[in-house]
Amino acid sequence: MRSVLRITTVAILFLIFSLSAIAQHTHKGVCGTEDGAGMDRLIKNLAAIKEGIVHKRGAITYVPMKYVLVARTNGTGRVTEEAVLDMHCHLNEVYLPQDIQFYIKDGTFEHLDKDAVYDDHRATRNTWMNGLNDNKAVTTFIVKNVDLSGTAGDALAYYDGQKDWMVVQNDQVNKNSQTFPHELGHFFSLQHPHLGWGSAPFAPGEPGWPTAPAISPDGAITELADGSNCEDAADKLCDTPADYNGLYTNGCVYNNGAMDPNGQLIDPDETLIMSYFGDNCVDKFTDDQKEVIEADLASSDRNRLEKNWTPLATTVSNKVFPVYPPEDSPVAVSGGALTVDWANVTGATHYIFELATNAFFSSSEKWMVEGSSIDLTDLTNRKYYYRIRPFNAYNTCANVSSGMSFTINNNQATSTQEIDFVKNFSVFPNPVSRNGQIFISVNSKESFNGEISVLDFTGKTVYRANENFATGDNQIPVELNIDANGVYLMFIKSEAGILKQKFVVNK
Ligand SMILES: [Zn+2]
Repeated sequence: MRSVLRITTVAILFLIFSLSAIAQHTHKGVCGTEDGAGMDRLIKNLAAIKEGIVHKRGAITYVPMKYVLVARTNGTGRVTEEAVLDMHCHLNEVYLPQDIQFYIKDGTFEHLDKDAVYDDHRATRNTWMNGLNDNKAVTTFIVKNVDLSGTAGDALAYYDGQKDWMVVQNDQVNKNSQTFPHELGHFFSLQHPHLGWGSAPFAPGEPGWPTAPAISPDGAITELADGSNCEDAADKLCDTPADYNGLYTNGCVYNNGAMDPNGQLIDPDETLIMSYFGDNCVDKFTDDQKEVIEADLASSDRNRLEKNWTPLATTVSNKVFPVYPPEDSPVAVSGGALTVDWANVTGATHYIFELATNAFFSSSEKWMVEGSSIDLTDLTNRKYYYRIRPFNAYNTCANVSSGMSFTINNNQATSTQEIDFVKNFSVFPNPVSRNGQIFISVNSKESFNGEISVLDFTGKTVYRANENFATGDNQIPVELNIDANGVYLMFIKSEAGILKQKFVVNK
């Protein structure tokens, strides 16, 4: 079964505007997760760790993600699928040392085109969002704007502790941002190392500076520099040093000079993903944080997640070979319709197919395709460019392929309409072994003369012969001299039209 989903039309990029938007977010900014979201689970998880009932899994656990890509009712304003694939790839890189890998449940994205959710998703928590929440997965809503009233600055993403789902802003969806790995940390019950200072970073000019009060502005106990109260203060973990929110520190070294309530200088860890230091500074979880993630995943609260799936393949290549149409010979189409075929990419189950009328793909249409072909319509006499991004539910790291092209010329080329008096055309055995014999089976209501040809997956003709087909059943042997495995295309061309059939050569 093949499914095709049109995902965008005419993507014209206004680069200048998007650059200024990025400049505002070079810093991670403010995470919208409310203080204490998941705290009850953190306390349970820490107790389980203390009791010694959490055991290292010793193998990767695959956790399903349900991505809901929110657009306006008219379908505009949605994050691109490629950006989600990039973000997902990065997420798996970050969580690999924790033996946790995420996969896209059912291999597909959920699309929601609804102004109400797009404009103010929080007002739809109990309606639209609830309806799309997948209890067996980590549901993640990707929206244009996360902004939560009551938070300092601009929230970019958050974990909703009550609903146990994630919300991420479009501009954080890419392969470099640490925002999503950070929010997933909250999902697994981790708190900020600077818990208590989320809304009011301790900085020069604040009351009491440079000596911090014993109770933070948001109410949590202030962690001491010597760690003596680490089990009760801030994030309750002892290998995440005192941190009073270095949000406004420039660079990756904190030297503002904040002191703890005892007058001792603090030395926060600027490399922690759960901190507010910049994306370029942070890249890790501490051992205590990893233990909490482990405990949370093993806890009964996480039994709801489907955790017994194993992925198809570990890598997916971005090398895509066109099968049909060939790169350099024009084809004619009937009614503007053409099926473009490419060789199956090992490990790939889905492809994003992008079609443009210029080599720069500055304006293009995209479809998400299951299987290695797509039926295009409305094609006219001209050259088209396309490129393909292969992926599967787990491995989303392959880049888009290099550009390929085909040319429609309805005046010069042979017709690609089917031969309507042929009732049945098949190739057997399929798959066939290399250098093996293959048979063409044709049942025709009329006799005709046709040219048989075979194209390999690079578009090269590897066999060509003329044959007379009789009325009724025909079985024609073809001696292949092929030494590469792959997908091949068999054609029968006649004045009345063209027949084509894919077959596989496999050892
Ligand atoms: Zn956070």
